Amino acid sequence: MDLSFSAEEQAFRAEVRGFLADKLPPELAQAVRDGRGLSKDNYERWHALLNEQGWLAPNWPTEFGGCEWNAVQRHIFEDECCRAHAPRIVPFGLSMLAPVLQKFGSKQQQDHYLPRILSGQDWWCQGYSEPGAGSDLASLKTKAVRDGDTYVVNGQKTWTTLGQYANWIFCLVRTDPTVKQQAGISFLLIDMDTPGIEVRPIILLDGTHEVNEVWFTDVRVPAENLVGEENKGWTYAKYLLTHERTNIAGVGFSQAGLAAVKRLARGQMHRGRPLIENPHFAARVARLEIDLMAMSTTNLRIISGAAKGQAPGVESSMLKVKGTQIRQEINDLARRAAGVYAMPFASEGVEGSNEAPIGPEGTAHVAAQYFNNRKLSIFGGSNEIQRNIIAKVKLGGGA
Ligand SMILES: Cc1cc2nc3c(=O)[nH]c(=O)nc-3n(C[C@H](O)[C@H](O)[C@H](O)COP(=O)(O)OP(=O)(O)OC[C@H]3O[C@@H](n4cnc5c(N)ncnc54)[C@H](O)[C@@H]3O)c2cc1C
Repeated sequence: MDLSFSAEEQAFRAEVRGFLADKLPPELAQAVRDGRGLSKDNYERWHALLNEQGWLAPNWPTEFGGCEWNAVQRHIFEDECCRAHAPRIVPFGLSMLAPVLQKFGSKQQQDHYLPRILSGQDWWCQGYSEPGAGSDLASLKTKAVRDGDTYVVNGQKTWTTLGQYANWIFCLVRTDPTVKQQAGISFLLIDMDTPGIEVRPIILLDGTHEVNEVWFTDVRVPAENLVGEENKGWTYAKYLLTHERTNIAGVGFSQAGLAAVKRLARGQMHRGRPLIENPHFAARVARLEIDLMAMSTTNLRIISGAAKGQAPGVESSMLKVKGTQIRQEINDLARRAAGVYAMPFASEGVEGSNEAPIGPEGTAHVAAQYFNNRKLSIFGGSNEIQRNIIAKVKLGGGA
């Protein structure tokens, strides 16, 4: 196993770095660096710049207009984007739905939807979870009943991220309630402008509107919007989840976060000395740094295996648990370093404002980020579920 980068890979890194230095708008990078929420326009602007460069779809095959980068190139790209504080690529259309359409969609669906994802014409959201169907997703109840050449959809989805921006939603729906749960699910593409759809906001702990409930009342969906075969949706849903779990370790985010904590702790005083010199604080920073280095090496080991065609197995679950623990620990340290300035809810730190936030630079958003990132160990398969997978594969009989 070779964990060093080849000359070509280093040249690729330099190319990505050059692009980011040239094209990433400084005000977007500053907003990401400050932990402020980005608007729909902000995301669309960044997507358009990447699309112009031909880099919006790193994992798509070239035949569909993607880069078809290998695992190492994708890692380098993500790493550099994090270092430069680039906005994330919104994953719902690009990295979740697109791979499903490329593998299971009809030619018509591919020709229609894929170019619209790249151009930004469509903003997709993910309609999987329901009240009572999260970890136990197969128990979902939103039903779709075939009526001539349409499906009639009734039910409710929840936690729909950025659904307020979306004009399309891909949904798992129950098309056969009489068989084993997994065997009665279908995968439907639904236009959010169809009569009978209502989007209701859910406000998160940090005060932001990031997720929603989506209600369906007698929503008529053309039958041609079914992906693949009726009642085979569970297979497509699982395929999608393997793509949802990319860049799961979040090494770049953690490196940027840890650097911010150190900057903050150098400026904050504790008993007359910079906080970074406090032995208890320094010990936590050191432990975190060691954990992050270990995870980064594990991540490279898995990427090196993937570049040789080995599919990551239970290691993805290990990276999910460790990666999210590290990010939450960074948020906790930042909150402690900010001290009293982490106490008030400072909306100007989250949403931006003409007024300067109170407190030293880098403190206004730390409480909001601490609360917001509680989500990391819940979504994408909760950490308890990941531990179950690890236990099953490593300790008992295989999965
Ligand atoms: C911010 C945010 C954004 C999200 N965005 C989306 C989205 O865009 N689209 C979408 O479809 N979904 C989305 N989700 C939903 C997410 O996938 C679910 O929250 C997740 O699958 C957990 O399901 P649940 O919330 O119903 O919790 P539950 O499944 O009810 O779990 C509750 C608790 O019990 C634990 N638990 C459950 N089962 C087991 C078990 N077998 N063994 C041990 N512990 C167990 C869980 O780990 C958790 O701690 C989002 C969630 C959040 C928080």
